[in-house]
Amino acid sequence: MLQLHTFRWKNSLVQGLLSISLLGMNASVYAQAKTDFSEIESIHTLSDSDNTAALKKLQEYKEKLGKDADYVLRAEVLKTLIGILYDAGKIKEADAANAELLQLAKSRNDNDMISLGLIGEAFQLMDQGKFAMALVKLNDIQQSLRDTKNAEVIMRLNIAFGMVQMAIGNFDKSLSYFLEALKQTDQIPRRQVQAKLYRMESIARLYLHMHNAEKALETTNDALAMQPKTESPKIISSLQMTRGLALIDLGRHDEAFEAYKIVLQIANEAGMPALAATALGNISDYYLNVRKFAEAERAARFSLEKALSVQDPFSIAIAKANIGFALAGQKKFSQGIEYINEAKKFFMETGSKSDVESLLSEIGNMFEAADMHKEALAIVREQQKLSDELFRSDRARAVATLQEQFNAEQRKKQIELLARENQLKDAEIENRQLQQVILMLAGVLMVMVGAVIFFLYQRVRRTNEKLREANEQLEFHAVRDPLTGLYNRRSFVDMMKGRIVLPEGERREDALENPDCLILMDIDHFKNINDNHGHAAGDAVLVEVARRLRSTVRDSDMVLRWGGEEFLIYSPRTNPAQLKNLVDRILRSIGEESMEVDGMLVPVTLTAGFISLPFSGLPEAVCNWEKALQIADMALYLGKVNGRNRAYGVSKLLIAYEEALPVLDHDLSAAIKAGMVELAEVHGPVRQADNPQPASQGTQDADLTSIIK
Ligand code: GH3
Ligand code: MG
Ligand code: MG
Repeated sequence: MLQLHTFRWKNSLVQGLLSISLLGMNASVYAQAKTDFSEIESIHTLSDSDNTAALKKLQEYKEKLGKDADYVLRAEVLKTLIGILYDAGKIKEADAANAELLQLAKSRNDNDMISLGLIGEAFQLMDQGKFAMALVKLNDIQQSLRDTKNAEVIMRLNIAFGMVQMAIGNFDKSLSYFLEALKQTDQIPRRQVQAKLYRMESIARLYLHMHNAEKALETTNDALAMQPKTESPKIISSLQMTRGLALIDLGRHDEAFEAYKIVLQIANEAGMPALAATALGNISDYYLNVRKFAEAERAARFSLEKALSVQDPFSIAIAKANIGFALAGQKKFSQGIEYINEAKKFFMETGSKSDVESLLSEIGNMFEAADMHKEALAIVREQQKLSDELFRSDRARAVATLQEQFNAEQRKKQIELLARENQLKDAEIENRQLQQVILMLAGVLMVMVGAVIFFLYQRVRRTNEKLREANEQLEFHAVRDPLTGLYNRRSFVDMMKGRIVLPEGERREDALENPDCLILMDIDHFKNINDNHGHAAGDAVLVEVARRLRSTVRDSDMVLRWGGEEFLIYSPRTNPAQLKNLVDRILRSIGEESMEVDGMLVPVTLTAGFISLPFSGLPEAVCNWEKALQIADMALYLGKVNGRNRAYGVSKLLIAYEEALPVLDHDLSAAIKAGMVELAEVHGPVRQADNPQPASQGTQDADLTSIIK
């Protein structure tokens, strides 16, 4: 059915007219102007919801201002007045206000303002359907506006061009102008959102003309989503109107009807009869669609009434067309065709090709429905011709490109929103990345700290190891003789001190049977070895003596270096009967074979004194190990004086200890002579023939009997 494609030039004209540059005003004027601007702006805002009240207020304000008021204020009042008058359907008064504005601007040589006035005149031409003339006028304005930087003027010019091009079917050009105008909305100083919404509405209208209802609906929905309902009912109504038209194209008639009802309600409430006429026209169209012809006729007649009241030729033409179709639907063909032809004539004259095409399409449908095939065919041919003109394929391609451009604009908006969202996300990501870096650094730090700790630990461990070794070494040297590796005198003393001496009686039997033995030894004529072969050779001899002693005794026996060239063997639990054998082995182990030192064979012999502990069954409290060792030392000395390379052992007391001790304490020889002790004698090995014997040795040798005697 025929949709009302009436363009509301006025609305488009009004948008942004308020926003005039305040540049060039001196400070005091500006301050005054600013106060009054806010008054005008509040009236403008009021017009968004109540056009009638706003008109009344603004006219009163204008009266009060008078002719001598500030130019900028007067211009502002006039611009606002033009829009409100148009919306009130007072087109003639609006045109008069525009003329007044133009005159005022010319008197001040205000080029930008003059251009706005001239653009207003171009809209008037469009209202009269004089699109070619409007186009010429706009081109002139553009020529004179070359240098302007006034975003509002540029925006308005683009809107006007877009409207003209849309009306004459140059959709591609129209879209590019509308897009340019949309871009300019970001530059105007006030009411940017409103301006943007009106531009989107124009673009949606254009899509309708391009038979792209899908896109038109999408655009109006986008715009409506941007604007809260309460903000500006006027804009809502415009958008709802276009939305309704798109819904009709998509066959969603009921939804469209709801949209138109919203428009009608707002138009009535806000005092905008032209808009009410359009809404009623479209409601009538809806009824035609659902074949409720009586209701359609009624709505169309209401629409015609409103349209006539505001002298809106487009709405009048469409109302007439709708009445015609409603009548035809009620089989009143001749009456109907009369109305339809009136409308057709108007569209043909105004050169609004797209409207003619829509109308022709409807007429064709009507004839077909009435089985008037001949008439229907003629209409289809006419329509085809027009359609070809409107939609040449190359143009369609260009339009597709422009559509993409529009999409890009829409996308830009989406991107802006997404960008804001992304900023949050970026912050979030940055935060997360920071956390990761911190974690990573913490990890690195932990690894480093771990490495340092490990390194320190290793060092501590190594140090401990060294310490332990050093301690062991210390301990070793504390108990061992460094030259021979044998236990030293101190370690023996410590051992003997720590020895648990059982109370008398307990281990007596066993101790008597298997006493510990002490064998004290001294190398014979060691000084000679040192003297003849050097101190180092003497050391080597000491080492070799130690080795031989160790290998001669049991593992349980203890071999010690007692002093310089003196050694001690502590042989625990040794049967006294076997003691002489042990001593014999020891003497032989040293003296039997010469020692090889620095390639030389050095004969070495020992002299030893030995004793058992407990000594002669005496408790240790009476004769302890120290005393026993003292006696052994005396026995050794006896060996020395009796010829060396031999050993004497004091095996037992022959008289009471108390009696023997005072003598034995210091003179073994005397004790022996007095028959106080029993003496055991062991001879060392016979020296090898090839070994040189110390000169003195033979002469010193004497046997036991001679000593005792
Ligand atoms: P004898 O015992 O047979 O009476 O004669 P001797 O030559 O062994 O006399 P004496 O026991 O008095 O001398 C011990 C010598 O041993 C004195 C000292 O120079 C030497 N001597 C002591 N300790 C060491 C040592 O560790 N290395 C070396 N090379 N000589 C030592
Ligand atoms: Mg000595
Ligand atoms: Mg000696």
